[in-house]
Amino acid sequence: MKKICDGKKIVVLGCARSGEATARWALDQGAKVVLSDIKPLTAWPDELVTWAKDKADVTLDAGGHNLEQWQDADMVVVSPGIPLDIEPVRFMREKGVRVTGELFLAASLWKGRMAGITGTNGKTTTTKLLGEICRAAGLDTVVAGNIGEPFINSVMADEVHGNDGQRVAVLELSSFQLENFEQRPLFEGWRIPHFDVMAWLNFAPDHLDRYVDLRHYGDAKARFMEFQTDSDWVILNRDCRQMDLWEEKARAKKLYFGVMRDDAPSGAWFLKGGGEMILRMSGDREERYDLSGWRLKGVHNLENLAAAMLSARCLEIEKQAIERAIAGFSPPSHRLEFVTEKQGIIFYDDSKATNVGAVLTAIKAMDRPVVLIAGGRGKGEDYSALANSEVCERLKAVVLIGEEADRLEKVFASCVPTVRLQTDGDVAGCQIMKKAVEKAMERAFAGDVVLLSPACASFDLFRNYEERGRAFKEAALGL
Ligand code: ADP
Repeated sequence: MKKICDGKKIVVLGCARSGEATARWALDQGAKVVLSDIKPLTAWPDELVTWAKDKADVTLDAGGHNLEQWQDADMVVVSPGIPLDIEPVRFMREKGVRVTGELFLAASLWKGRMAGITGTNGKTTTTKLLGEICRAAGLDTVVAGNIGEPFINSVMADEVHGNDGQRVAVLELSSFQLENFEQRPLFEGWRIPHFDVMAWLNFAPDHLDRYVDLRHYGDAKARFMEFQTDSDWVILNRDCRQMDLWEEKARAKKLYFGVMRDDAPSGAWFLKGGGEMILRMSGDREERYDLSGWRLKGVHNLENLAAAMLSARCLEIEKQAIERAIAGFSPPSHRLEFVTEKQGIIFYDDSKATNVGAVLTAIKAMDRPVVLIAGGRGKGEDYSALANSEVCERLKAVVLIGEEADRLEKVFASCVPTVRLQTDGDVAGCQIMKKAVEKAMERAFAGDVVLLSPACASFDLFRNYEERGRAFKEAALGL
């Protein structure tokens, strides 16, 4: 039987999860595959190297990018972690070769409905929640994308099982995945995907190490709007004014969410204290949802909830299924997660807070004085918003770690006592975190909170934010 990539050559750039999945899919579909990564072969995943070893149609291009091996390629699929402006990608593009990403590729082939979630913060929480609502409603659901599971795996599974469009995909979408969405089919006869429903949670500075400025970052995020029709739905945050810049580009039917107000248009509305969510899908008809079973902290999580509920209603899911899923939902780890209470001091792990917006949200969600642990690897962000009076009023002290400790200390020094830990040399990340927790504990009293909410990436001291969060938890539990 003819396969859709017969006779094609596909270069896959990046040997991590989405690259590996793309390579497997491409080979399965009859393509010749070149898998390329700047890392030496010894640093590639063993399983991938073993899989590729006896495949005549797979070439491993390790330790750099050997353009000779890329010759005659029909398409280059770039992993979201790799910037699109690196030299070999530019070169291929100039040659007229199509450059894309795994998400666009998979979306082009997906036959079922697609619900997307994007935003600077809250994507994973909302995606997970919407996935659980869909499952509670009995829908055959795939949860994929930036959340960790490559979407192309679901496309491949559908091929194997002969599923034909009955599954619904709930996709977490980062700007790096959306930026290579283009209004032309990948290959002749392939479709251009569209999102049946898309929620844009919020917009705040992030990833300025990858984008020239905020405008470019927003443009990348808003790209999804071009991939909606006027029978699709777009869900927007009414309280996030930064989104206004892009709102008029939306073609889909609009719904909003936010704190209750008199002039609320169609959408989902709540009081800051929670309790109830009111949905108005169209006209004046209201649906009221009881939130007494909702366990997540903070107004930001009510926003996430509102976006997930609206997305679910756009997928025609009934109220009962939504309420069941809400009552059973627990927050994903490392997102304002309760860890322990010691001597009346509560510890929260918010290791996933890797930008200023997320840290501000975390601090505002606390109803007690906070000793903050922050720092790590910077992403080019301006930290000055952290020194605003509303934040500083709530902070008792700040313990700073990692490469950005100096810059953060300068910001906080004017408003709150700081402790900066020396993190040079070979001291292990978990030792530094242990020290940071001890220092934070010295400054906290019963009734306070110790909060890890770093505003930075973790890669200077840890493998990832999960490892950083675990180090914090262990240190707090071991006090
Ligand atoms: P993402 O997948 O977009 O990184 P997560 O759900 O993993 O989002 O949460 C990342 C960080 O952002 C956590 O620190 C979390 O507490 C915070 N956060 C979650 N939802 C929101 C929101 N709606 N607005 C601001 N911050 C949020």
